[in-house]
Amino acid sequence: MHEWSESQQMIRDAVRRFIDDEVAPQVEELEHGDLPPYDILRKLYSTFGMDEMARARFRKQIEAEKRGEETKKKSSGGDPESRADQAAATLIPIIELCRYCPGMVTAMGVSVGLTAGAILSKGTTEQKERWAEKLLTLEHVGAWAITEPGSGSDAFGGMRSSARREGDEFVLNGSKTFITNGPHADTTVFICKLEEEGVDLRDRKILNFVLDRGMPGFEQSGALRKMGLHSSPTGELFLSDVRVGMDRLLGGEAALSRAGGGRESAKGTFQTERSGVAAMALGIVDRCLELSLKYARERVQFERPIGEYQLIQDKLARMEVARMNLQNLVFRTIELSAHGKTMTFAEASAMKLYSARAAVEVAMEAVQIYGGNGYMSEYVVEQLARDAKVLQIYAGTDEIQIRAIAKDLLAA
Ligand SMILES: Cc1cc2nc3c(=O)[nH]c(=O)nc-3n(C[C@H](O)[C@H](O)[C@H](O)COP(=O)(O)OP(=O)(O)OC[C@H]3O[C@@H](n4cnc5c(N)ncnc54)[C@H](O)[C@@H]3O)c2cc1C
Repeated sequence: MHEWSESQQMIRDAVRRFIDDEVAPQVEELEHGDLPPYDILRKLYSTFGMDEMARARFRKQIEAEKRGEETKKKSSGGDPESRADQAAATLIPIIELCRYCPGMVTAMGVSVGLTAGAILSKGTTEQKERWAEKLLTLEHVGAWAITEPGSGSDAFGGMRSSARREGDEFVLNGSKTFITNGPHADTTVFICKLEEEGVDLRDRKILNFVLDRGMPGFEQSGALRKMGLHSSPTGELFLSDVRVGMDRLLGGEAALSRAGGGRESAKGTFQTERSGVAAMALGIVDRCLELSLKYARERVQFERPIGEYQLIQDKLARMEVARMNLQNLVFRTIELSAHGKTMTFAEASAMKLYSARAAVEVAMEAVQIYGGNGYMSEYVVEQLARDAKVLQIYAGTDEIQIRAIAKDLLAA
């Protein structure tokens, strides 16, 4: 794939129109007010039939599971072209939304990609029916909680949240922080360690439980104040003796006998997160370049448009290089999906590392091109620069991506 097909361009144009009508007029409220992103995202889903498509795909998968058929995890059926269109139809809204509000994509991605994704990959058929369908259609908001005040990069090693088994029940305790959608989530995947006597804390089984809003002992904080990404509410979760049955343990009884418990499931989730970042970065870079070009043509200093100065041209040219690279990474993601393949963990990490850095560099250079105006909230590059920074932190920091890539290279 070397360019968007005609049908993909049509989708992109339609999504752009939706964003012009529904998102752009509300950016101020989303970014500087208290408007949560969910109703606009639901409207996006219903306008483009994304909710009905997700429901139909989900029902088909569940029916197949009930008939005892092996579900195809890596490809969603159809010929390569239709699979490419399906992958593009998922990535195009991410790119386009990130031109305005990367936070909206974070809120949507965590709910659909991470929370529903975790339930779909590790849940029993019953658990999928109970929680995943409403998350996939955005009827419900989901949160995926692994990070704790004392454990971020070393997510499993430093994890303190625990599940104590009492007969057929578990008693959950612990706290989580920086949780996207935490304040609003209807459904939360809570990742913790099984209390196992005589087993070192670092080696204990990792378990994933599904929690509903309002369960006794389960508290969801309000939104934390942060540097950017204001259209994505982020919060803390507190669990104090939350009692749950086996029905809320993802995978049920079988999860207890899997070596390491849910470590592999969470790793799969990291991979999903990482590969989505290229599309987010592309949206940010594309918009920053568009705005920078406009400003470079219009802004006059020393009696010439600043775009005539080589130092500004150098910035614009580098932005275009980043845009092309990111677009190629997105095309590669689509190609892989079309052929039912996924990236290796190291490849997804490399893509995430490059994309996050490119987005931050381009957005900061856009601020520089705008000069004093770039530092003012009135100009959108200021917001995009603050928003871009998070790409180097969440879904694994830059340093952690480097570690994953190097480990893979050295092991080969
Ligand atoms: C806006 C936002 C949304 C988020 N959403 C979620 C969510 O929905 N769910 C969730 O579970 N988490 C979420 N997170 C948490 C995020 O994944 C963590 O912040 C991230 O993994 C880093 O962990 P930390 O903040 O504890 O930093 P730390 O791990 O404490 O890292 C501090 C610094 O040390 C570096 N460092 C750590 N270990 C090494 C090493 N071995 N070698 C070299 N350098 C190292 C890091 O790279 C970083 O620079 C979110 C975070 C943010 C900011």
